[in-house]
Amino acid sequence: MLSQQDIIAKGDKYVMRTYGRTPITLVRGKGVWVWDAEGKKYLDFVAGLAVNNLGHCHPRVVEAIARQAGTLIHCSNLYYIEPQVRLAEQLVNNSALDRVFFCNSGAEAVEAAIKLARKHAKKVSQDKSQIITALQSFHGRTLAAITATGQPKYQKGYEPLPAGFKHVPFNDFAAMEEALTDDVCAVLLEPVQGEGGVNVAEREYLQGVRHLCDERGALLILDEVQTGMGRTGRLFAYEHYGIEPDILALAKALAGGFPMGAMLAREEIARAFSPGDHASTFGGNPLACVAAIASLGVLLGEDYVKNAEVVGSYFRKRLADLIGRYHFVKEVRGLGLMLALELYIPGAGIVDRCRNKGLLVNCVKENVLRFVPPLIVSTEDVDAAMKILIEALDEEREALDSDGA
Ligand code: PLP
Repeated sequence: MLSQQDIIAKGDKYVMRTYGRTPITLVRGKGVWVWDAEGKKYLDFVAGLAVNNLGHCHPRVVEAIARQAGTLIHCSNLYYIEPQVRLAEQLVNNSALDRVFFCNSGAEAVEAAIKLARKHAKKVSQDKSQIITALQSFHGRTLAAITATGQPKYQKGYEPLPAGFKHVPFNDFAAMEEALTDDVCAVLLEPVQGEGGVNVAEREYLQGVRHLCDERGALLILDEVQTGMGRTGRLFAYEHYGIEPDILALAKALAGGFPMGAMLAREEIARAFSPGDHASTFGGNPLACVAAIASLGVLLGEDYVKNAEVVGSYFRKRLADLIGRYHFVKEVRGLGLMLALELYIPGAGIVDRCRNKGLLVNCVKENVLRFVPPLIVSTEDVDAAMKILIEALDEEREALDSDGA
């Protein structure tokens, strides 16, 4: 086995430099814990970036993958695939949507949603092709997804970008009303913007946008790649808002850590796709589907969605106690177990201090600490994480004070 040092050296030499890496390598995981190559143990509140909702290596997911791997790993979508149809049925039965297209990532789910919305709109008018998205949104890294993403830093250098996207400020209904003209085929929003800083959509806003889309003949696409599969304390975040989307994008936690994405749509909209209109070689392959079936079974069977709500609310209160205690802590926000602590200072130093003490967290927007632990997390795990976080914040304050002195 390679040492941690060797893994880092080879990674720096051979892998393309698209990631700003933290200098550790994770080699094993169990439940809410992961271990690095030197045997150091960490409480994992990054969870593979909101992927490992059942923690690491849940026995039922492991067993399902192992059994399927010995039976049939892959077969083409030229044929019917039993685990795929079973998973599609379960997703339909547990959501407001009627049909599923399977793919392999969040960006692909968003791409599929954009294509379906445009294809559907062509039935009404050739000119109805614009998509409205929000500033500070994040929808993935393909060309259409970065164009949909309302953050110029993800687009810079990749021009020319695909046409037909406009951005409006998030939670600003008046701006949406102005932008939603006849040439708009869909509005694409995250119920909680994840990479954009954990910004929660207001209830009246999402309800208003839903109503406006109906009134003006546009579709509402919700990107629940990060918020879906129980993360916010509901299976899908739209359930908090008393609305239903026309199209839903899922990925991340869908298959318990195995790569998978899905785009779901209402029947009438799904009909815009005919055989040959869209496809994916690996989308909905047997291995990914059994992993997703097992994950969904555990998530619903053990009611970890409720746990996300209950433990999320406890965690949020504990984070809120930090306001006032540290002059550089600004605000707590989020939904369920998708939480954030906004700071007045950059968060990278605190992330490093936490990691050295055995807690993995990450930072979005440079000054927002994000907490997306597995949904199986207990209040005791949260207490353990808070103990480390407080130590890290104390050290940060001391360092700031001594710098200022
Ligand atoms: N949409 C949202 C809301 C996301 O948070 C992400 C990833 O962070 C994506 C899309 C892209 O997903 P992927 O990295 O699987 O392509």
